[in-house]
Amino acid sequence: MDTIFTKIINKEILSDIQYEDELCIAINDINPKSKVHILVIPKKPIINISTATDLDNNLLGHLLLVCKMLAKKNNIEKDGYQILTNTGEGGGQTVMHLHFHLLSGNAVTL
Ligand code: 5GP
Repeated sequence: MDTIFTKIINKEILSDIQYEDELCIAINDINPKSKVHILVIPKKPIINISTATDLDNNLLGHLLLVCKMLAKKNNIEKDGYQILTNTGEGGGQTVMHLHFHLLSGNAVTL
């Protein structure tokens, strides 16, 4: 099922793109919860971690390494950051296309 992220990946909707390669796109969140708030989104329309499979092993690793790269690029590596993925409605997921939030600081306290 298409979501707003499909339109962003297909450039049907403009977004502030931080990084893109053949597997993913990374954009600034439209409603940032911290100074740096980037969404790292696979181009493959996986709904969330619960629907990912062994076939997505490499892709999931790649997404995390892109988060790491963008943390460095945005100079938040030293002070620390969070990588978060909401999973399912009860888990706070509002866009049903897998994405990792890269957040500077300690925006989400556990
Ligand atoms: P979720 O709640 O699913 O974990 O996160 C969805 C995120 O997508 C939210 O942080 C929300 O602000 C962001 N978002 C929703 N629509 C758009 C959009 O059109 N553009 C951008 N850049 N971010 C969006």
